[in-house]
Amino acid sequence: MKRSITKDQIKATVEEAYNECKGIEGGVNAHYIPYLANVDSNLFGISVTLPTGETFGFGDTEYRFGIESVSKVPTAILAMRQLGPQAVLKQIGADATGLPFNSIFAILLENDHPSTPLVNAGAISACSMITPKGDADSKWKAITDNITDMCGSAPLLIDELYKSESETNFNNRAIAWLLKNYNRIYDDVAMSLDLYTRQCSLGITTSQLAVMAATIASGGYNPLTKRQIFDKDISAKVTSLIATVGFYEHTGDWLYTSGIPAKSGVGGGVLGVLPGKLGIAAFAPPLDDAGNSVKAQAAVKSVISRLGLGIFESDEVEIV
Ligand code: GLN
Repeated sequence: MKRSITKDQIKATVEEAYNECKGIEGGVNAHYIPYLANVDSNLFGISVTLPTGETFGFGDTEYRFGIESVSKVPTAILAMRQLGPQAVLKQIGADATGLPFNSIFAILLENDHPSTPLVNAGAISACSMITPKGDADSKWKAITDNITDMCGSAPLLIDELYKSESETNFNNRAIAWLLKNYNRIYDDVAMSLDLYTRQCSLGITTSQLAVMAATIASGGYNPLTKRQIFDKDISAKVTSLIATVGFYEHTGDWLYTSGIPAKSGVGGGVLGVLPGKLGIAAFAPPLDDAGNSVKAQAAVKSVISRLGLGIFESDEVEIV
């Protein structure tokens, strides 16, 4: 069936979803990173960006929170921009682990392979792939410039979060060295881990993440700045990674119940991509047991199901 949805309908739906979900309780802030444990648990925002650049947001959409694992998405894109999608597949992989984001067991099970750039192991490996090799400052600039290009505005490092993560990231240090042992770290180990920790500590807003999501949904074209940031082939590849592992061991449940490829972070952010249609982002700090925001998941699901826009729907939908 063919049907159309108006922009006004989308805006009204985002507002309804916000009102429906704002009272949801449950979940706890990430407790293993002290900074995150202390963020106000009541913050909540949701934002949708269309391929025209129009954005509809409700709630705390301008609050800067820790991007955390959502940063794995732009850095995977950057590695593809610099070295090509094939290099990412070969040097990291594109498989779901079915295990928690910080799993060491997953590395051992996958025959020394980090599996995907969207879990901690693969993301540290991706940071090691970024060029120019051996030059931490230039690599950091490439990582943050890429995020700025995708959002149309810059992220800001949250120093306190960076310090907090650097002082407590013992598990990630173990992952980095294990990967080094298997020749899956392609630059200095400490530098690669530090770049990963720093990118996780970037402060980002829900509105910025919605533009990032819309850039992916629009085949690498940033609808806000009207600039082509990366190839549309990369957009398809990264969306496949997001669909496969975006919610870690809950990814199947997520895709089954929501119908939208999405990536979460322990800062409480969720970024969702509906190819050709829209980018969506939501944020609320309390997390479920897999480290995914309870309220942000509910809000994204509510918008997508109200609009009947899941990627597995057979209707041909046009946004007018
Ligand atoms: N910085 C966090 C970590 O490495 C990111 C994890 C996440 O957001 N799932 O543990």
